[in-house]
Amino acid sequence: MDKIIRVNMADLSTRTEAVPAAWAGLGGRGLTSTIVAAEVPPTCHPLGPSNKLVFAPGLLTGTPAANSGRLSAGAKSPLTGTIKESNAGGTAAQMLARLGIKALIIEGIPKADAWYSLHVSLDGVAIQEETELLGKGNFAVIEALEARLGKKTGILTIGPAGELKMTAANISVKDPDSKIRSHGRGGLGAVMGSKKIKFITIDDQGAPKVPIADPEKFKTAARAFAKALLDHPVSGEGLPTYGTNVLVNILHEAGGLPTRNFTAGQFDGHDKISGETMHDTIVARGGKPKHGCHAGCIIQCSQVYHDKEGKYVTSGFEYETIWGLGADCCIDDLDDIAVADNLMDDIGIDSIETAVMFGVAMEAGILPFGDSKGIIRILTEEIGRGTPLGRILGGGAGAVGRAYGVTRVPVVKNQGIPAYDPRSVKGIGITYATSTMGADHTAGYTIATNILNVGGFVDPLKKEGQVELSRNLQIATAAVDSTGMCIFVAFPALDIPECLPALIDMINARFGINLTGDDVTNLGKHILKVEHQFNIEAGFTKEHDRLPEFFRLEPVAPHNAVWDFTDAEIDEFWNF
Ligand code: SF4
Repeated sequence: MDKIIRVNMADLSTRTEAVPAAWAGLGGRGLTSTIVAAEVPPTCHPLGPSNKLVFAPGLLTGTPAANSGRLSAGAKSPLTGTIKESNAGGTAAQMLARLGIKALIIEGIPKADAWYSLHVSLDGVAIQEETELLGKGNFAVIEALEARLGKKTGILTIGPAGELKMTAANISVKDPDSKIRSHGRGGLGAVMGSKKIKFITIDDQGAPKVPIADPEKFKTAARAFAKALLDHPVSGEGLPTYGTNVLVNILHEAGGLPTRNFTAGQFDGHDKISGETMHDTIVARGGKPKHGCHAGCIIQCSQVYHDKEGKYVTSGFEYETIWGLGADCCIDDLDDIAVADNLMDDIGIDSIETAVMFGVAMEAGILPFGDSKGIIRILTEEIGRGTPLGRILGGGAGAVGRAYGVTRVPVVKNQGIPAYDPRSVKGIGITYATSTMGADHTAGYTIATNILNVGGFVDPLKKEGQVELSRNLQIATAAVDSTGMCIFVAFPALDIPECLPALIDMINARFGINLTGDDVTNLGKHILKVEHQFNIEAGFTKEHDRLPEFFRLEPVAPHNAVWDFTDAEIDEFWNF
């Protein structure tokens, strides 16, 4: 029987509740956003006692459905001040789902000056004081906890960045190889740090299988769904071969690869950091070019990257990180970027926010463009140690821009703009502007249709069709984020007619219900409206749905494109 577990850090109590009827059909982002909107005062301080940190597996998480093992984390974001959901792979989601935990809601702030850990099992949640692992990096925490509790333990942890409540801090999740995946965006690690929780361990021993109301129907739909994932050229071939980093050369060609803190759209060193180069390097050094971030992932866009001596450096080495430290900071040394990626995992800081921040820091003169060793030194000696400079840098791109008087600061609602220039890929600009979470490419990934010709084609350099494209994708994404599915299922869902019905059939077979395609669309719309309303009550207006001024003022090569949407055109987004 599914349940809700509440942990109150103010009095160190826990409570198990039945799932309210209104939450029964929700999971993942749909559930975290519903709970945050219902229970967190929108104007509260994100690091104060009124904020809540909510974890929720998706509707299909824990079932054999391919790519369904994502965990959503939600709260009011200390980075953006908006509602926030960030989802990640790893082993925690499937374990929580097997334990029947529909949501874990962490409330309040401890009265004592002490740190704690949570242990989740069939017996409920135990709160324990923690001293030994304070100040430790995430890899040391995982190693120590596996020695303490066994290799199979699920782990959610924060590094020094979360303990110091840096607004770019993430929450790390142990993956099947005891490495790290991240609830990266929005500073949720700082929220966990504000609640004085260093880590959460999960033991699902003795837990039953996730129940499926109609196993035969589920099996048939799961087979059709998996086939669609493997048949699509992006999810079946491009991502498994080159990872998300396949995009470096593609975005360079399209002139949409933000370079040197968003002053150009192409990077001379693109070949050296490309997915093709990365693939060959990994193979030559005995790493893994294909890797799943959770059991049951059949796309396997992740990889394990080794150094020249064949020793592990990093995994889950994503395009957005490689773009950010690469093109945006003018670094063409993949090995140095990999070392920095590992450091960010260990410190527990969002690699997108931090990479965008370094571009702004370079513009501010804190270190020169191209200085990869400088980045590694700053991560280790400043951010990792929480020096005064490290704390400013750990506050993300917006904080550094304000501290140093930089005017070219690529953020929306104070969240760093990721790896696609909105002047030359205009659909993604609409997503950055209107997303309820601040600049976030995953909220409505128009790159699919603007650049990859998935789900048709909308010319990236023209304004026509972009608002509709972003709106449709943001609605669909909000629904997909509620299922526990990895966002990359969107590629076959847009192109292969059997894919989306199979996904809906799996949900129906899991719960014994009869959702239609319209129901799923309505769910996505509902989630967006709930999130939008929270933001309005937090003080956000349509004037916050804007890109920074420099995108209008500075044409970007090679297309000499500018951001040319009127305010009224952007505001059309919310007309649904
Ligand atoms: S495709 Fe990539 S992001 Fe998606 S579940 Fe697999 S490894 Fe994780």
